[in-house]
Amino acid sequence: MQRPNFSLEGRVAVITGGARGIGGAIASALVSAGAAVALLGRDEQALAEAVATLTAEGCSAEYFIADVTRVPSIETAFDGVLRSMGRIDILVNNAGIEQLCASVDVTEELWDRIVGTNLKGAFFAAQAACRRMPAGGSIINLCSLTSEVGVAGAAPYGASKSGMAGLTRALATEWAARGIRVNGIGPGYFRTALTESFYRDEHWQRAMLRKIPLNRFGKLDDLGGAAVFLCSDAAAYVTGQVLYVDGGYLAAL
Ligand code: NDP
Repeated sequence: MQRPNFSLEGRVAVITGGARGIGGAIASALVSAGAAVALLGRDEQALAEAVATLTAEGCSAEYFIADVTRVPSIETAFDGVLRSMGRIDILVNNAGIEQLCASVDVTEELWDRIVGTNLKGAFFAAQAACRRMPAGGSIINLCSLTSEVGVAGAAPYGASKSGMAGLTRALATEWAARGIRVNGIGPGYFRTALTESFYRDEHWQRAMLRKIPLNRFGKLDDLGGAAVFLCSDAAAYVTGQVLYVDGGYLAAL
């Protein structure tokens, strides 16, 4: 019996929105397993700081400016990663935005911004990765509890994240023949810039904690193990799945 192999030594991982929040935590976990990371995003200062922190710890990291709503921007960034880092083995489709809005008031602009970032951006980043990835590659799409349940005021976000689960299955099916695995991670509730406004409401916090069997919110480090596992050879026979890291929230519904 071979030991499960969780090492990412020699692999290059691209993480969209990798400078902060969940993307930043996943980047740290992947470098701890031996990967070199390419952080993509729009905010050059945040990216440069994140790379400086990782390289100061002896890790291999670079950043590339990319706006995932623009396909040429994605293509340019992926060309840059390949040129500078030599290969692309892993993509973490993490870039995402949310803005709550009553559905009767959602404008075309808001719909396009949220779905264009979260779903269209993820698809074209996956396409850019797939075209440059060798067999053995792994793609992770950031899904959400809203991939499974409805949340009032979050129709564009919920549609984009349900779409991410569908996209995960479709690409896993299509790209299995290329030796590329595609899975999702569905975080429960994690405190980041994206969710900060919820956490300022103590009533919301108390009500939400009652719905989480493990009785606490997620810590960013809780996501690292799932990310390393899904990218590694330990998950060589896992594709098309969404792994929910939610303290039991969905199980208790
Ligand atoms: P943050 O707001 O902390 O981070 C979002 C990241 O996305 C930033 O790094 C940002 O970088 C990047 N980003 C946004 N728009 C673009 C764009 N157009 N092009 C490139 N990068 C972009 O959010 P989280 O860390 O919380 O969220 C990360 C992912 O996890 C999202 O997909 C989110 O939907 C998902 N998620 C989060 C949950 C939570 O509880 N926090 C729960 C479930 C899912 P920059 O501004 O530099 O471009």
